[in-house]
Amino acid sequence: MRVAMLAPVWIPIPPEGYGGIERVIKLLVDELVRMGEDVTLFAAGPCRTRAWQRIMLDEAPTYHMGETLYDALHVGRAYREIYTGGFDIVHDHSGFLGPAFAGMLPVPVVHTLHGPFTPEIRRFYEAFKDDCYYVAISRRQLESCPGLNYLGMVPNAVDVDEHRYLGEKGDYLICVGRICEAKGTEQAVLLARETGNRLLLAGKIDPGRDRDYFESRVVPHLDGKMILYLGEVSQEEKVRLVSRARALLFTVQWEEPFGLVMAEALACGTPVLATRWGAVPEVVEHGVTGFLADSPRELASYVERIDELDPLDCRRAAEEHFSPGAMAASYLDIYHYASDMHPTRLWPHRAHTA
Ligand code: UDP
Repeated sequence: MRVAMLAPVWIPIPPEGYGGIERVIKLLVDELVRMGEDVTLFAAGPCRTRAWQRIMLDEAPTYHMGETLYDALHVGRAYREIYTGGFDIVHDHSGFLGPAFAGMLPVPVVHTLHGPFTPEIRRFYEAFKDDCYYVAISRRQLESCPGLNYLGMVPNAVDVDEHRYLGEKGDYLICVGRICEAKGTEQAVLLARETGNRLLLAGKIDPGRDRDYFESRVVPHLDGKMILYLGEVSQEEKVRLVSRARALLFTVQWEEPFGLVMAEALACGTPVLATRWGAVPEVVEHGVTGFLADSPRELASYVERIDELDPLDCRRAAEEHFSPGAMAASYLDIYHYASDMHPTRLWPHRAHTA
């Protein structure tokens, strides 16, 4: 099948550090190519994948994240090439522009929903539900907006080989990801302090609200000994730190659509202590690969029970539930289904003129 894979413009593929969607796209295109599919990745540079690559912007505009000008340049250029490119399917991860203009393309568009829903976002996707096929990344995400034309639910995957398994753990807890209110960084810090545990924080801080949050809620707790902030870390550094941690703390305070970092921790044999929000219970099994609680306070009571969990169970769960092969096979089924439906279901007016 000729697949056009449209990545978000903001971060190169694979990402150096932060970048969950980008990491999943890298795994997906490599796996599809390995399966014999003809995949072209439309992304901002520099990229390193096994797919054909069409670089829409020489340099990913990471420091301009969210600015429409870059997004529109990227998606506009990609859609122009895709229009006459002879593709069988477009798989779009670009955010809002992809679905908004999907109806203009003569090719079916599959769009993976990567974020949580607000009432505005729900309205947005409903407006374009006849122009593209949606795919959710967790059951919880799908159920929180049931009215869309979903073609399925495909959980994200992790490269288990890239995540070194370590059975022997160090003496610290770790938090990896965006430093922000939604990810509950402050709650993780308070939990670590309350239980007398060392906590390493690694992650990016977006300018504006997240930077203010960091300065006011997190910095006052940093003491260089028990609570440390390491900045954004590379994939290698993340694997080194997470594989040695007693547990990953994931005290999220939002409808987490997936939470890739939890699956990565499991691949390292590191259990997860998490608040039960969004898709968290779909990634972590309470009492087996981690502990789940309704509040950070309740979660604190599980810290002393971390050693009851077997790192091998965590690793096995990652291999079993988040395999790149299974993810790629599911998407391929969806591509075939969408392609077979086209154009009669999505573009009935074209069926009449065909
Ligand atoms: N990440 C990283 N270095 C950092 C912070 C994050 O490599 O300093 C990675 C993390 O391991 C994961 C991704 O960025 O692969 C974040 O994805 P996740 O789904 O956990 O969070 P979200 O997409 O909601 O921000």
